[in-house]
Amino acid sequence: MKRAIYPGSFDPVTKGHLDVIARSARLVDELVVGVLNNSAKNALFSIQERVNMLKELISEFPNVTVDAFDGLLVDYAKRIDAAIIVRGLRAVTDFEYELQIAQTNHEIYADLETIFLTTRLEYAYLSSTIVKEVASYGGDISRFLPPQIIPRVYEKYGIKDFGK
Ligand code: ADP
Repeated sequence: MKRAIYPGSFDPVTKGHLDVIARSARLVDELVVGVLNNSAKNALFSIQERVNMLKELISEFPNVTVDAFDGLLVDYAKRIDAAIIVRGLRAVTDFEYELQIAQTNHEIYADLETIFLTTRLEYAYLSSTIVKEVASYGGDISRFLPPQIIPRVYEKYGIKDFGK
């Protein structure tokens, strides 16, 4: 039985994340989407809000679950008996950082492999950070996020008449 973890901040979950979830769920028996509870990062959404949004969105995938974790990813992977880490690669800028993390994790826990899914071209530019930047100025974020997530992002910025 192959269990994988797809870790991230998901602040908020984007269509790019969902694409990685859908594609990696087909490759493994079980996929755990692990939401990192990182107090150092100033998150827009609380850990519970991020977990709940993901839970709503993954209900169509029978082998995907959502969980929150803190601390080292390798420790969490060991605890839930995951042998694979899934990460998404967008541009070369992701590569150097991701390679370093993957090699470090493999060094600490040799049985743990990281696999990378290259982003779909249409989401190559898409990040939670960019979405927040656009939304904070009342810009149109409808292309980037699942429909039910959109009003919650504007709400965080106190924007009521979005999409007008
Ligand atoms: P982190 O803070 O760990 O980078 P993110 O929520 O920003 O958390 O991203 C989680 C994972 O999803 C990362 O591996 C990231 O590269 C990947 N990812 C984010 N956006 C996209 C996208 N548009 N296409 C493919 N992968 C993506």
